[in-house]
Amino acid sequence: MPTTRIIYDMHVHTSNSPDADFPESLLASRAADAGLSGVGFVAHVDYHPRDFCYAWFDAARYDEAFAKAVESRGSDGPVLLKGIEIGEPHRFGERAMEAASGYDYDFVVGALHWVGEELVLEKEPFEARADPMGLVEEYLRQSIEMVETGGFDVLAHLGIFRRGMTQAGLDLRELDETRLFPDLVRQLLSSMVERGVALELNTSGLRRDERVTYPVPPVLALYRSLGGTRVTLGSDTHRDPWVFYGLGEGVDMLLEAGFGTALLYRRGEPVEYPLR
Ligand SMILES: [Zn+2]
Ligand SMILES: [Zn+2]
Repeated sequence: MPTTRIIYDMHVHTSNSPDADFPESLLASRAADAGLSGVGFVAHVDYHPRDFCYAWFDAARYDEAFAKAVESRGSDGPVLLKGIEIGEPHRFGERAMEAASGYDYDFVVGALHWVGEELVLEKEPFEARADPMGLVEEYLRQSIEMVETGGFDVLAHLGIFRRGMTQAGLDLRELDETRLFPDLVRQLLSSMVERGVALELNTSGLRRDERVTYPVPPVLALYRSLGGTRVTLGSDTHRDPWVFYGLGEGVDMLLEAGFGTALLYRRGEPVEYPLR
């Protein structure tokens, strides 16, 4: 980048998440510099008692910061969209929506970070287990439950357990969940297609040692073959030097998997844009 492609980065954290550095206005101007067409901000809304972001979300503060960014945006600046990322919505969705209530959002992202009491982004649960693949299986089962419970537009970073597994020193070369757990993955993706839940291609793994997207290409391909058309692109930006990282590669992967369009969300409604 800069790029002539149309790209909406639909997973950008701001300082309204405790683990991210930059305010909305600054990210908006960085997005303009990067040539992005739009940015979907997300704020963590977490109610898992052990989560770093537990009960941190402040809907009024986020709304104010977002409004300020919209105000300072130039007339030809990137489109700014306001979202939230709810952790484990099948378990904590009610509390999350309560915390978010009273304000408008363009979209809601559902994220599975905790499988029960195990945080799959970290190495500890994988090191502690005799059967690390058992945690992957449980992650898929919980993802199905999450999609079937609903309450969100986009499923975030499917396959992010690779982050914890890589830190635990496990060999991921053979790890293709479409082969290892074909029934579970099919059930998950079919359920998404049925319910119109979009699949996010999250490029944040490209900057980590595992150097893969979440999900990996075989999952994208299977989703497509099951009739999935709704995809979003997200960098999971939190701070420098990884602001908007990997989006170009993400677009290439979507095109390769046969997706001609991706989505942004405005006031809860999906809007398609062409990837080429
Ligand atoms: Zn997340
Ligand atoms: Zn995130």
